[in-house]
Amino acid sequence: MANETELMEKIVSLSKRRGFVFPGSEIYGGLESTWDYGPLGMLLKNNVKAQWWKAVLQERDDMVGLDASILMHPTAWVASGHVEGFSDPLVDCKSCKKRFRADDIKETKCPECGGEFTEVRKFNLMFKTFMGPVEDEAAVIYMRPETAQGIFVNFKNVQTSSRKKLPFGIAQIGKSFRNEITPGKFTFRTREFEQMEIEYFVKPDEADKLYDKWVDDRYNWYFNLGVKKENLRLRPHDPDELAHYAKACKDIEYKYPWGWAEVEGIANRTDFDLSQHQKVSGKEMTYFDEEKNEHYIPYVIEPSGGVDRATLTFLVDSYAEDKAPDEKGKMEERVVLRLDKRLAPYKIAILPLSKKEPIINMANKISKDLRKHFMCDYDDRGSIGKRYRRQDEVGTPFAVTIDFQTIEEDNKVTIRDRDTMKQERVPVDNLVNIFREKLES
Ligand code: ATP
Repeated sequence: MANETELMEKIVSLSKRRGFVFPGSEIYGGLESTWDYGPLGMLLKNNVKAQWWKAVLQERDDMVGLDASILMHPTAWVASGHVEGFSDPLVDCKSCKKRFRADDIKETKCPECGGEFTEVRKFNLMFKTFMGPVEDEAAVIYMRPETAQGIFVNFKNVQTSSRKKLPFGIAQIGKSFRNEITPGKFTFRTREFEQMEIEYFVKPDEADKLYDKWVDDRYNWYFNLGVKKENLRLRPHDPDELAHYAKACKDIEYKYPWGWAEVEGIANRTDFDLSQHQKVSGKEMTYFDEEKNEHYIPYVIEPSGGVDRATLTFLVDSYAEDKAPDEKGKMEERVVLRLDKRLAPYKIAILPLSKKEPIINMANKISKDLRKHFMCDYDDRGSIGKRYRRQDEVGTPFAVTIDFQTIEEDNKVTIRDRDTMKQERVPVDNLVNIFREKLES
């Protein structure tokens, strides 16, 4: 396997070449740390989100979803503490003007040019913009730096409309924006990104137990979707890392090619957020506990992950190089994304072995039938070996080949498995059911 920098280079290059991720605004020279998901990346990312929704919403009876707006009343960000405190300490180099996060820098001089640093200053990470036609202070609003506050401000709306009892949670996926000082490492840290966040409201005395349960559930989500155990770990925050209101926080970390880093954080945020919104807005944020016959502000457990980071994690973790036979049985190098079949952009590739009419007609018919159920790709160009290689490197779990035997003899096609490379002949008429079983089991 490639060394670590090489591995990242290979993933970035595969992403561009095959249409997972392109540099943003590339024809204008790019815009630092913006990335666009291409045809395959968009499918992969949507599958990641669908699996998240399935796990945190569909498969549970204590969760509901929300889709709040990006632009929120500016006072919400005062209440949340972001206007005051959402900042990174930073230093500028007086010579080359480069900016660094003070907590990232161990040296006393600029690592780029040896220049002197300015004093440490605070820099607010929220993007500001103006609402309405007048560009003055009164019209300033923020692009949300997290989706969580959209959940908190809707706590009462959701709770009363859905009639949920504690413990229950609200899940949301959406874009967030942070004017990061040091973006980078491909899609790992960008200024515009998507978050998948849950605010799970609990009785205060059940918070510790339910926090542990969420830590397990979220760790298992990555693991069950194929991320290797040796590349995943839980890291509890040190007491001095914890926000003053948080009781506990653990990061799920992944071993990226450059080292361990956070892919998701799970925190016990106590009653801090709802209390703040109650205080600042003047609106009740309490829950009526019928059993205890009392009103109180629930505690909240927050599993907060990044869609882009999760997608990058699945890409990196599934990347493999091994050997596969070409048409003549000679072994050749192949790149294969061993993506879980639920995440793979295409589930099935349809590969007619000849461009002759009966075969193409049959392939088109199969393609039309399968597309009603599964995302498919159709490829009739190049040798069959090359076509398998193209599907392997984008993670397509199955390929169907149609040949003369299909038409002339047995009305069967060959299914080839990406991982085992085993082939089996199956009846055309039963293909949908066969793939249902293979893909949905
Ligand atoms: P970091 O320490 O890496 O800056 P954070 O602790 O500030 O992250 P949170 O505020 O806990 O991150 O956000 C929750 C999740 O959102 C992170 O686990 C990550 O997956 C994602 N996320 C946060 N910032 C970014 C970013 N700039 N680019 C991509 N994803 C991000």
